[in-house]
Amino acid sequence: MKQPVYSVVIPAYNEQEVIRETYMRLTDVMQKMSETYELIFVNDGSKDQTAYIIAEFCEKDPAVRLINFTRNFGHMSAISAGMEHARGQAIFVIDADLQDPPEVFPIMAEKWKEGYHVVYGKRLQRKGESVFKRLSAKLFYKFIRRMTSVDLPPDTGEFRLIDRQVCDVVNKLPEKNRYIRGLVSWVGFKQVPVEYVREARFAGKTKYPLRKMFLFAMDAITSFSYKPLKLATFAGFLISFVSFLYILYVIYEYFFTDRTVAGWASTIAAILFTQGIVLMILGLMGEYIGRIYTELQNRPNYIIQEIIEKDND
Ligand code: UDP
Ligand code: MG
Repeated sequence: MKQPVYSVVIPAYNEQEVIRETYMRLTDVMQKMSETYELIFVNDGSKDQTAYIIAEFCEKDPAVRLINFTRNFGHMSAISAGMEHARGQAIFVIDADLQDPPEVFPIMAEKWKEGYHVVYGKRLQRKGESVFKRLSAKLFYKFIRRMTSVDLPPDTGEFRLIDRQVCDVVNKLPEKNRYIRGLVSWVGFKQVPVEYVREARFAGKTKYPLRKMFLFAMDAITSFSYKPLKLATFAGFLISFVSFLYILYVIYEYFFTDRTVAGWASTIAAILFTQGIVLMILGLMGEYIGRIYTELQNRPNYIIQEIIEKDND
């Protein structure tokens, strides 16, 4: 199938428990839409049976393609690879875990046919996720909106349809740190949300533990904004100002009272506090310098070991 109407990009990392169900549900939905389609599974270095199971689909079904990475490169890289290999006129992106219902595809396709370039899924409700996950996600989106100047729609993940034209533009963006939903939002075009209920994972468990979520948030913020650097400057000014007032007070004490030896505790406190702030600001600088470094290294976002599809045999 050289140029199908629809491509579906599915990043998968250790999803052996769900991948069969995912394939069946996707096939079901795509066939009902009665247009040509391809399913692009990107196996992001899974350590379980995921790749073998998908390879089985490829043997029977010419609509399926499997991109095997050489190791785990991350969710965003997997989606990037899928988008770069998609040949459809409209590209759906969906997680492998069935948290985002493929049954929403026809609604997205309808909007696309009306002329929208990006149709993104907006979560109305999240089922089966812990209170902590929900709260952290909420804070995450709030914080991102505050810290960046790009208008990132809240409660939006990677579940969306993008038009060929948008896909080409996003693929051409050269940056290595790819926060895809940010990039798609940044490029503009006509974008519209479609609301849906986010289900619990069909099986398996989340690959975004707290540590990864924190790194993800850092990536999201530093790739779209310099505001944290401004915050650092602001903190610097504020602390200098407070210190200045304190110095005035110290001078006053020296000249007008006889309590000058006291104040050891407050000196130590002030030193520790300012040192903390300085370290924090240095860390922040380091974050941006690190990003410049990775961009300069200019390594690829992912390495493909092989692409499996029926046509190739
Ligand atoms: N994923 C991936 N590489 C990774 C981590 C996750 O390709 O390193 C895939 C995973 O298989 C799933 C999607 O990205 O299809 C979203 O991951 P997950 O469901 O674990 O995240 P959550 O929904 O909990 O935020
Ligand atoms: Mg999930």
